[in-house]
Amino acid sequence: MNQPLLSQTQQERLPVFLLEWYDRTRRILPWREDPQPYYVWLSEIMLQQTRVEAVKPYFSRFLETLPTIGALAEASEETLLKLWEGLGYYSRVRNLQKAAKVVMEEYGGQLPSDPLLLEKLPGIGSYTAGAIASIAFGVAVPAVDGNVLRVISRVSASREDIASPKCKRNMELEVRKIIPKDRAGDFNQALMELGAMVCLGNGEPKCLCCPLQSICLGFQQGVAAELPVKAPKKPRKKEERTVLLLHCGDTFALHQRKQKGLLAGMWELPSLDGKKSPEEVEEWLREQGVQVISLREAPDATHIFTHVEWHMTGFFAELSQPLPGFFWADHQALEQQYALPSAFKAYFGELGLKKAKSVKK
Ligand code: SF4
Repeated sequence: MNQPLLSQTQQERLPVFLLEWYDRTRRILPWREDPQPYYVWLSEIMLQQTRVEAVKPYFSRFLETLPTIGALAEASEETLLKLWEGLGYYSRVRNLQKAAKVVMEEYGGQLPSDPLLLEKLPGIGSYTAGAIASIAFGVAVPAVDGNVLRVISRVSASREDIASPKCKRNMELEVRKIIPKDRAGDFNQALMELGAMVCLGNGEPKCLCCPLQSICLGFQQGVAAELPVKAPKKPRKKEERTVLLLHCGDTFALHQRKQKGLLAGMWELPSLDGKKSPEEVEEWLREQGVQVISLREAPDATHIFTHVEWHMTGFFAELSQPLPGFFWADHQALEQQYALPSAFKAYFGELGLKKAKSVKK
């Protein structure tokens, strides 16, 4: 049996202080003001890697196009990817649609309120299931994300490694004990909100304006900024790539990635492994049997994924005829139809595309 993280006094006072603060200061957010299950679900998936302010326009645009779970289930892949373009992590929107299809087939178009059933849907883990069940249905279950792990670690001065599944389970048990049954959704949102607005990461908690200061051991012991403890991740793999902007007439070459793995099934700019010189790129193009009218360097760029970094060297090549084996898209199709991952945003200008903002955290 694990030692409880929070003392009896902390357990009693934390929900009271937190909710009183939340009622006074909470942010007005579209999915918060009308917490329908579909809206809560969509917002939670969008917020997984993106800041609240950046999510708002995506959230409204998505719901204007796909206002119901049924519409989401039936949307074309191109529509889905376009609506998600710039948010990254496209597997999330694909899972969203897979789950919507299950909801239509098995639950008559209504998300279930039971977190165990929610967790069986594609793309929904214990945190998202807890968030939907508590916020949309008022079920008293925890929703423990990185913000909550940080707050509870600091309040309890816990030095458990928050990257370990055991620690997360303990924190969930601890939160479960103190969720007020009549305000489960507000309580979970308040904890997340405190982590996002006051008990900030990167060693910068704003303890002087925190409603939990009087019961926070991290603050009282002067160790808040050292917490939470998190074991370092494995270093990311670095990959060199040479990105080719192949232009012929008014079209550019696109390549579709494999259906599994990083950016599964997404369209991308063609590329060669490694960092190539202009001579090597020209030679490679000639070997493919096309005549190179002109070749010039395009910007270098770096894109960081969760487990890998792409270090990209770019070349713009004008070709006499389309290179076989690629899909050739004109400007209108690039702008309206094909969602290019934000990993290539450094090249959007070269392609004549306006949308070039990354909104990842
Ligand atoms: S007092 Fe400081 S460390 Fe403790 S919960 Fe508040 S902001 Fe976080």
